[in-house]
Amino acid sequence: MPESWSRREFLRSAAGGMAASAALGIPHPMRPPRPLPPESRWAAKPVAIASANGLRAVQKAFDMLMQGADTLDSVVEGVKIQELDPNDDSVGYGGLPNAEGVVQLDASCMHGPTKRAGAVGALENIKTPSEVAKLILKYTTHIFLVGEGAKRFALSFGFKEEDLLTEHSREAWLRWRANLSPTDNYLDVPDSDHLVVTKTGTINCDAVTPQGDLSSVTTTSGLSWKIPGRVGDSPIIGAGQYCDNDVGAAGSTGLGEANIKVCGGFLTVEHMRRGMKPTDACLETLKRVVAETEARLLDPQGKPKFDLVFYALTKRGEFGAASLYPNRFAAHDGTEAKIRDTAYLFTRA
Ligand code: ASP
Repeated sequence: MPESWSRREFLRSAAGGMAASAALGIPHPMRPPRPLPPESRWAAKPVAIASANGLRAVQKAFDMLMQGADTLDSVVEGVKIQELDPNDDSVGYGGLPNAEGVVQLDASCMHGPTKRAGAVGALENIKTPSEVAKLILKYTTHIFLVGEGAKRFALSFGFKEEDLLTEHSREAWLRWRANLSPTDNYLDVPDSDHLVVTKTGTINCDAVTPQGDLSSVTTTSGLSWKIPGRVGDSPIIGAGQYCDNDVGAAGSTGLGEANIKVCGGFLTVEHMRRGMKPTDACLETLKRVVAETEARLLDPQGKPKFDLVFYALTKRGEFGAASLYPNRFAAHDGTEAKIRDTAYLFTRA
């Protein structure tokens, strides 16, 4: 607060800030939105990037940045669109469940300006784990809550306990269970929609504000049909996402186990710290992933049998993405939100 401010002025400005947060629909904001500096004083080209399912997320995050919202508030509000969308079966509500038919969600986030991090693993019955990760970041001295404790923490902040299975995700799980073994007591069912195969899917979103403030968030329902309790890379700080306000932010989607072993979010930011451009940094991390891949996950040509994508953004607003195989990502580059092609290491046969 400026020293010359009266208590009344302070209260008026705090109320104004809270009204602005409410107008932008931000629950538990990191800070109230505030006016942007004049464009001539911008430290960065504002940008928001995300996985390919994040076109609406980058539009939302970018719009919020330009209204002066905090960097983390912007990306979390962006990914919540997918978390709440029953038609995205890789994230939040409607996400595909574990082997027992229970949806367990993972998420993590980092806030560059305050150097804080928050994460949840195997969270059940709460639609927006990214928001719970943000609350851990904002209100606790901890970083990572899992399972029942994470749920009780969310409930204490007024989140509602809800059934996260949709008709589609329950049907997909029932078919998977029926087709699991030809000798069990469930009759096999035709899998016309390819519902039974293990599916991946996640949303990562990273953004930089005109002031050069960075943040990152990743949220997922993880691998479908996973062993209950499995957590992937998404909630692991340094794997699913990483952010350093002096350098940049990076995140990942795809086979989490392959990313965890190289701490891919952190590694990608470290490559950028040493001067690599975002796309090159992502490719370099992927080469490390391939080098660390166990034989059972390589085909006879030595190519991985899975895909993994990295997304990266610098403090100045340069961005890029790369994957093992051709893939796509979403970016709002200051002009428009659109889907772009990633750089990649291999082509499919
Ligand atoms: N990375 C996620 C996980 O392994 C899944 C995905 O991104 O598709 O849990």
